[in-house]
Amino acid sequence: LVLNEVAEEVEESLRSPICCIMGHVDSGKTKLLDCIRGTNVQEGEAGGITQQIGATYFPAGNIRERTKELNADAKLKVPGLLVIDTPGHEPFTNLRSRGSNLCDLAILVVDIMRGLEPQTLESLNLLRRRNVKFIVALNKVDRLYGWKKSKNAPLMKTMKQQLGYVVDEFNKRVEQVKTQFQEQGLNSMLNYENREMGETISIIPTSAISGEGIPDLLLLLVQWAQKTMVEKLTYVDKVQCTVLEVKVIEGHGITVDVVLVNGVLREGDQIVVCGSQGPIVTTIRSLLTPYPMNETRVKGTYMAHREVKAAQCIKIAAQGLEHAIAGTALHVIGPNEDMEEAKKNVMEDIESVMKRIDKSGEGVYVQASTLGSLEALLEFLKSSDVKVPVSGIGIGPVHKKDIMKAGIMLEKKEEFATILAFDVKITAEARELADKKGVKIFCDDTIYRLFNKFKSYIEGIKEEKKKETACEVVFPCVLQILPNHIYNKDPIILGVKVNDGILKVGTPICIFKRIENVRVIMNIGRVASIKNKNKEPVDNARKGQEVAIKIIASNPEKQKKFGKHFGIEDRLISHISRRSIDVLRTYYWEELSDDEKSLVLRLERKFNIQ
Ligand code: GDP
Repeated sequence: LVLNEVAEEVEESLRSPICCIMGHVDSGKTKLLDCIRGTNVQEGEAGGITQQIGATYFPAGNIRERTKELNADAKLKVPGLLVIDTPGHEPFTNLRSRGSNLCDLAILVVDIMRGLEPQTLESLNLLRRRNVKFIVALNKVDRLYGWKKSKNAPLMKTMKQQLGYVVDEFNKRVEQVKTQFQEQGLNSMLNYENREMGETISIIPTSAISGEGIPDLLLLLVQWAQKTMVEKLTYVDKVQCTVLEVKVIEGHGITVDVVLVNGVLREGDQIVVCGSQGPIVTTIRSLLTPYPMNETRVKGTYMAHREVKAAQCIKIAAQGLEHAIAGTALHVIGPNEDMEEAKKNVMEDIESVMKRIDKSGEGVYVQASTLGSLEALLEFLKSSDVKVPVSGIGIGPVHKKDIMKAGIMLEKKEEFATILAFDVKITAEARELADKKGVKIFCDDTIYRLFNKFKSYIEGIKEEKKKETACEVVFPCVLQILPNHIYNKDPIILGVKVNDGILKVGTPICIFKRIENVRVIMNIGRVASIKNKNKEPVDNARKGQEVAIKIIASNPEKQKKFGKHFGIEDRLISHISRRSIDVLRTYYWEELSDDEKSLVLRLERKFNIQ
């Protein structure tokens, strides 16, 4: 009955909003989805919820039924809500269609016990960059000490049952989260206090275990969407459709899972899809969805439809889809449409990403599950603190051919003979070949972890090379000999002031001499030890410090003598070379102060190093 009533209210002109779930790992995204989906199913009634391909559809009637305790004037104008099922690995970016966002809104899940975490911030930044409205599910409220659970209850009802100290703890944690959002430049408020949803984000406390707050969450999503996104949600006939995944399905061959945001898809429609080998033109053989949840059918069988109207997630079976690229737009050819133009348009998606490859030809190979996730990873690599140039890209599982391509770097720059595999499988043959050739593969399903793995690998290599070259590096210094501090002539022990740069044990020291009007460099020896004013041995001395140093010549027979070969007026200078400067610049540059860096430049000129 409820279903019929609502069906009449629904305005024909609006489509269902599409929503996705984001947040840090373990914040409860999966559990929350299960919870939203599961309540009615466990009670033996699906309430019209339909399991789609990669998404769950909640009809307005179901939402109304579940939110009736809220006594809201729940006029639902949208036919329902489509929630994308894949949380975690950047679902949102995967679902990006060219130029616009596929998701109309998002739920950002935050664990009340942990507050904002790295991936929360990552998600937050993405949402802001893409200008997508979101609400915050402050999840796991049931974990507050002393919390009294009340299954599937609206928030106000459950709050009334809590003891004073629980409410205090709750309020304290909510305040902390609000402060953390504030630090990100965002105002937030509990949803029942937030009268003007707009600039201020609504926080909805939830528990994915007990279902508390879920009614509030659902109602808010729908009401907010239909109130503020009418224009966006107005149904249009023009097909807007994005490929989510390319999959082999027994009995159907290669299929693509798609989100249909607008328009109608029909059996027999001619479509164009972006493919890694060029545009794919084909005809829809069948439009498939799983059987409804309460129907007992053989798992893995599908229901075929003549036509499907947006917004929905469905599987399309057609010929020739093997090279289709997930994350790109699917286009339906209209009766009077120019095929060549359509082909060109669908390929623009991949071409815009190809432009991001490093022109130098040196860089890592990046592989991701969809075009959207690839774009997100490239964006991240570009803006990260460690610059990671990219020389090649791929979409889908890592195959032998990808290893071959990444292997090109072995001869150019070994550390770049690396594949960053973001949320994709690696075939056994590919792994074997990689091991054989020495191509490194890093894989993960979150960008920041993937990046960190690569970063520590690069830093490890750098550290190793630093150790290998430690005996070759020369730090820049200019020393002034202190009069009356000549302690010994052989080996030379004398007092010096560091006029400029940094003096380190092991530094080769020289002086510049004019002999018959020709300037020559005279080697004195290496700094064997340094002692500070308290006569304690130290490893280095910085500008302005006065210390005593011992200098030992590599060849004792040629030991230069103070008073004979050089005197108080000579400046002792670190003896640099092309090689020592290269090592310094590659591995130690960040350790130098601006002063020290500019001394390096001056010494390079002085030593005439090209
Ligand atoms: P995801 O990585 O964000 O998808 O997180 P999951 O949904 O896998 O949840 C991570 C862990 O937190 C699991 O052990 C869940 O059972 C638990 N969990 C999720 N939501 C809640 C909640 O509301 N309350 C409690 N007590 N545990 C939760």
